[in-house]
Amino acid sequence: MTDRFGRKIEYLRVSITDRCNLRCIYCMPSMPDGFCPVSHDDVLRYEEIERVVRCMVPLGIRHVRVTGGEPLARKGAAGFAGRLRKIPGIETVTMTTNGVLLSEYARELAEAGIDGVNISLDTTDEALSERITNRPGTVKAVKEAIRRMREYGVPVKINAVLLKETLPSICGLLEFAKDGIPVRFIELMPIGYGKELEGATPEEARAVIRESYPDFAESGVRLGAGPARYYSSSRLAAPVGFIEAVSHSFCSSCNRVRLTSTGLLKSCLCFDQGTDLSGMLRGSASDDDIKEAVRNCIYLKPAKHCFDSKEDITETKLMSQIGG
Ligand code: SAM
Ligand code: SF4
Repeated sequence: MTDRFGRKIEYLRVSITDRCNLRCIYCMPSMPDGFCPVSHDDVLRYEEIERVVRCMVPLGIRHVRVTGGEPLARKGAAGFAGRLRKIPGIETVTMTTNGVLLSEYARELAEAGIDGVNISLDTTDEALSERITNRPGTVKAVKEAIRRMREYGVPVKINAVLLKETLPSICGLLEFAKDGIPVRFIELMPIGYGKELEGATPEEARAVIRESYPDFAESGVRLGAGPARYYSSSRLAAPVGFIEAVSHSFCSSCNRVRLTSTGLLKSCLCFDQGTDLSGMLRGSASDDDIKEAVRNCIYLKPAKHCFDSKEDITETKLMSQIGG
């Protein structure tokens, strides 16, 4: 369906857990192990999420991304992705993961028919990655996971948040990915702990890349349903994307809504507004009632975020509670 600004909404990000095995500095840096801000009973069961997705197909949702917290930290995540993939009308099911547990589930995800996996890896410098994620050994684990996913023929992309401290290593990341893995650099967003950090700008990143790849230039290529702008170089096999949510807002073509693990349907990352579906799912609401609630939520989607005016951001949840 379209919202009141005529935007076609066809992409749903589903967070299946708020828990995570990493502690990224911009997301949930200092929480104790096992930290989960919501009680287990409040987290939607897989059947409940599946019901929401089924209700959203007639409203135009075609693409679902499973995220978290760390989605693979929840038992049964790969099988759940497979269940979503079988829903008539759903054209793609993808996952965003930090990749640390991915090797373990590579085969199951491939057999489940996952259409692609985005792996978050900010740097290939192991010591720096440890400082960012507050966990050792992430780079080694992620490299192995990427190898395995590609062995199974599952398309992978790398997502890297742009930080001042990763600028010196971004060409190393491109070097690692140069035989054909698309890398997308994500501008740090002022959500959760992201508010307190200063990221690197996409312009700074492109300047660093041009020092090693002088013909690095915007290509006009489009990959998938996302908002990345792609650049390329004759010396890189895959395009390099920039997701510039802050400096080049793409709100006018935003095609997405988000379902948190507790059943809040959010229509914009920036605002603490949304429709709580959990009460409906656990009460006596019919599928038609749920569809009507989703329709209203989509219709009222805000025109744009206000990341450039931090005091107007009303979202107080962490990115791990929203799903990115
Ligand atoms: N744990 C999984 C992962 O890291 O891929 C999935 C959830 S994570 C919240 C989804 C994405 O959000 C990751 O790519 C992460 O780097 C990104 N992210 C987290 N906090 C962010 C922030 N403040 N600004 C921009 N991206 C952020
Ligand atoms: Fe975990 Fe992903 Fe947040 Fe890092 S960005 S702490 S991996 S949820």
